Amino acid sequence: MPFKSLGLSDKLVQGILATGYTAPTAIQSQAIPTALQGRDIIGCAQTGTGKTAAFVLPILNRLAAHEAAGHASAGIKALVLTPTRELAGQVEEAVKTYGRFMRLRTLAIYGGVGYGPQLQALQRGVDFVVATPGRLIDLMNSRRIDLSKVEVLVLDEADRMMDMGFIPDVRKIVAQIPKERQTLMFSATMSREIRELTASIQRQPQIIQIGEQRNPVATVTQHIFTVQRDQKMDLLIHIIEEQNLDCVLVFSRTKHGADRISQKLERRGIRSAALHSNRTQSQRQKALDGFKRGHYRVLVATDIAARGIDVEGISHVINFDTPVYAEDYIHRIGRTGRAMATGDAITFVSRDEEDYLRSIEKFIGKRLERKRHPTFVAAAPQAFQKPQQPAHPQQPHALKPAYHQPHQQHLPKPGPQATQQVSHETRGPSPRPQQPAGHSPHPKPRPKLSFWQRRRQRGGN
Ligand code: AMP
Repeated sequence: MPFKSLGLSDKLVQGILATGYTAPTAIQSQAIPTALQGRDIIGCAQTGTGKTAAFVLPILNRLAAHEAAGHASAGIKALVLTPTRELAGQVEEAVKTYGRFMRLRTLAIYGGVGYGPQLQALQRGVDFVVATPGRLIDLMNSRRIDLSKVEVLVLDEADRMMDMGFIPDVRKIVAQIPKERQTLMFSATMSREIRELTASIQRQPQIIQIGEQRNPVATVTQHIFTVQRDQKMDLLIHIIEEQNLDCVLVFSRTKHGADRISQKLERRGIRSAALHSNRTQSQRQKALDGFKRGHYRVLVATDIAARGIDVEGISHVINFDTPVYAEDYIHRIGRTGRAMATGDAITFVSRDEEDYLRSIEKFIGKRLERKRHPTFVAAAPQAFQKPQQPAHPQQPHALKPAYHQPHQQHLPKPGPQATQQVSHETRGPSPRPQQPAGHSPHPKPRPKLSFWQRRRQRGGN
């Protein structure tokens, strides 16, 4: 079905075709005609299904109709609320892209940046605002934004707004918007709280559900690799280097972890950036832009920062930590396999994360096969190697490719873990020719010795 037959205006159809879309996605073909009738909608769609265009296009169609009829009055006509700054930026970009042949003034409002440019834009006049709740409330409280002309309100990723505690703010914002409006709400999952919210702010919404709510998109292949916690970094490097991956999104449970992973990749010669809420807005933007432009091969993000990220061509999503919340698993892996492209989602599971994996399986209603990575050879614990002895070619550490040198941080501490043996069964064919020791293609971090190693070198016990 072509876009034209959905009832969109010519200028908009031109804009969509110029964007490169030829046919609407499932959510678009269902939501656009309903939204064009002015009805409220609850859209339950997974990430990557094209839901942004599903709500942006009908709004732009309404604005185009005002323009054509010559009664385009001043004031903000459309307001989209998103949980994160990145998503706000992306949705505003989408609005500009689809509406490129219209006369349109758009503005993204979010915190972490100066007020100046946002206030100046508001003074000049804006038709379409995409905002995160916090900064919008600031502007409302200081009476620097007028929402009394809003005709369409969209809550994007409402479930995440709820998780992030934004619902009281959302209610305050809704109270400032005329009751005579159209309200569109999109959420990947529909909890009881979300239903309660919609019941209080929508009127007889049409529910549009695309796909099985709990299933990851079919274009994503899921892999579960069991690995010891202290070998995750080596496995990550192995996977990136083995396949020479250059557009990888890695998820870390913590901000600190994201920084650490990114720094270790950089030290390994793999360009990477971290994206999390402790970074300034300009650092976050730089990281995201650099990743989009291909300057960084890897973006290491936390869940909240990565929510809604839409980067074309992410081939691999790697869960360095198994997500604690099953819903995050769906969102994380939905960053790849977008718009019908294929993608791989890899999850590292250490023994202490088994429970999380089980709850993910329960959530998606499917068992995920656990495997060892076929070509990854876990590094032999260094603290117990005897450097004086020449390595026998059959010994595991002699066969170990140079890029499997363990990072200093992973030197096992003396203890029961250090006595673990490398499993020979797990070793698959080597992904690249064996490098003689000391000829790693990547700069190796200067080995920093552990307390026990220094003590042993000094001849202590
Ligand atoms: P979304 O779910 O809105 O984040 O969209 C996911 C991706 O699908 C984005 O990269 C969009 O540019 C892309 N997309 C949206 N609609 C279409 C379409 N009709 N045809 C092709 N790609 C699309």
